[in-house]
Amino acid sequence: MEIDSDNGAAITIRDADKDHVDLVLKNVDLSVANSIRRTMLAEVPTLAIDLVEIDVNTSVLADEFISHRLGLIPLDSTDIDELSYSRDCTCDQYCDKCSVKYELMVKCNSDSTSNVYARDLSKFNNNKILGDPIIKDKDGHGPLICKLRKHQELRITCIAKKGIAKEHAKWSPCAAIGFEYDPWNKLKHTDYWYEVDADKEWPKSANCDWEEPPDPELPFDYESKPNNFYFDIETSGSLTPDNVFMKAIEALQLKVAGIAVELNKEGVEGNDASNGGFTTYGKTPGNQSPVGDSYGSGSFGASSWS
Ligand SMILES: [Zn+2]
Repeated sequence: MEIDSDNGAAITIRDADKDHVDLVLKNVDLSVANSIRRTMLAEVPTLAIDLVEIDVNTSVLADEFISHRLGLIPLDSTDIDELSYSRDCTCDQYCDKCSVKYELMVKCNSDSTSNVYARDLSKFNNNKILGDPIIKDKDGHGPLICKLRKHQELRITCIAKKGIAKEHAKWSPCAAIGFEYDPWNKLKHTDYWYEVDADKEWPKSANCDWEEPPDPELPFDYESKPNNFYFDIETSGSLTPDNVFMKAIEALQLKVAGIAVELNKEGVEGNDASNGGFTTYGKTPGNQSPVGDSYGSGSFGASSWS
């Protein structure tokens, strides 16, 4: 599938399923492609268990160990926009506007070991999908939390909150993102270590088929730039890959717009070049910078981002 726009940026989707997408992003700068990758990894909000109150834990695992495992369970975050961050909420610690509450009450009464899975978490406000543990195995168990022998018990209350992976990796919607450009290394951004012959010792990337091999006769082009970026996005299940991509672009747009708005503010000390400000982007009397203007009155300043 190919998605093209008149502005030049284009996406070719090579393979996709529920939790994974393999795509080629074309006609953008390396910095833009890399920003999208980093934003997808670290700045797309999801839901994860953040507070754990343990009443009873007679299992062999320490409280901290179980809390950590609970935090790593992927929770459905499709409707995460309905939830606010706890730090922005008016409540003291948490409420149903900024968190989702669970209980884990299990006891082993049989002679054989019993397993505690993510499906054993019982969620309050069960009429919403938001916060449902992601269960992918065919038996419908979800991730294993702990094993209990006879008479061992867990009585735990969990609070899941909205967050981003910059704060803690448990909030990352991505399990892994493959990122490659210039598979033939024409730009010499990579220096291969080798014993005798780098071409023989290093296997070719599968993405080499998508680009012309280098012509050894041609001189090195110092001005050439990478144009095709190969992404392989694998999500943890909390969000679909298309959702992750779109939300990452949204987050990036907001950040760029934030910079534009700040640069355009009147009275920002650093903007005032006539009073020793360190930038020329600001508006100085009688000398309005074209950059400041285009952001201020153009689509950015007047849009809903401001
Ligand atoms: Zn709250």
